[in-house]
Amino acid sequence: MRNTSETRDIEPACAVAPTMRAMVLNAALLPLQLERRNIPQPGPGELRLRVLACAVCRTDLHVVDGELPLPVLPIVPGHEIVGIVEAMGAGVQGHRIGDRVGVPWLGHSCGCCAFCADGRENLCDTPRFTGYHRDGGFASHVIAEAAFCLPLAMPETDAARIAPLLCAGLIGWRSLKAAGDGAQRLGIFGFGAAAHLVTQAAVAQGREVCAFTRAGDTATQAFARSLGAAWAGGSNERPPELLDAAIIFAPAGELVPAALRVVHKGGRVVCGGIHMSDIPAFPYRLLWEERSVVSVANLTRADAREFLDFVQTHPLQVHVRTYPLAQANEALADLRAGRIEGAAVLVP
Ligand SMILES: [Zn+2]
Ligand SMILES: [Zn+2]
Repeated sequence: MRNTSETRDIEPACAVAPTMRAMVLNAALLPLQLERRNIPQPGPGELRLRVLACAVCRTDLHVVDGELPLPVLPIVPGHEIVGIVEAMGAGVQGHRIGDRVGVPWLGHSCGCCAFCADGRENLCDTPRFTGYHRDGGFASHVIAEAAFCLPLAMPETDAARIAPLLCAGLIGWRSLKAAGDGAQRLGIFGFGAAAHLVTQAAVAQGREVCAFTRAGDTATQAFARSLGAAWAGGSNERPPELLDAAIIFAPAGELVPAALRVVHKGGRVVCGGIHMSDIPAFPYRLLWEERSVVSVANLTRADAREFLDFVQTHPLQVHVRTYPLAQANEALADLRAGRIEGAAVLVP
């Protein structure tokens, strides 16, 4: 790779738009504000991307709604980014100007703590998360650490349909792995962006999926069946047979005992979200007989490689509703209200 010692631009400086647009969170519980900023230059080891699409994750909603501690303000949310490499900082290897790459939630790990050394960079002691510790993709441009940008080998696929793979898909994949290879009958609680992808992946692996939605939400239940779920019902209902494992994507703590009720002996309940309301007290007999409750945190780049390889051979239908960047608040409101079938995606 030539000339890695200085920043290179895809176009002459005079042709680069002088400013970028970003939807900025200035304080929790306030609407994001559209700002114009100077287009930043990538530092050593960084890429500057022109954002093609950025999906809206429930974690973004937790950030905006103040349900997660905010380490940095103001911040540009968004961590399911598909972008074109527009400029590269010094020392970048393995990327080229014009490549389409994905930027996930894990924006940096230290590489040297005990967890990183053990291949568990998702649990790094000093991670930096995209759209949380550093500005994310609710913007026309973003700076990302090159080593955490994922090559995307789907040249024919619309960027908006790739973006949800980068968190809904990846966290869903990690949750599916946590459910265990032997989990043939799988329950999924909360049928949003992650569930709609995981259902298809699980069915492609030969598993049987039971989808649990809000009670009475027959439209989402029909959506789940259309993606291959063998059964769909309310989270207060019992599936035809007990399950080997269940994954909870909805941030509702009361689903933990609900899920334990429908997994059989030795079954596992996986909590796939970053935030959940308090889990109510429940009788020990629900956990008894070697049932377990585990959580999934973040992702590793190995998860990403594995999942992006999987979708090459098992293409998933990615259902999206797109919004212009300036309508990020509307997208968040629709997600909050459960009005999205599949994933909301911002297109700058
Ligand atoms: Zn680390
Ligand atoms: Zn996410």
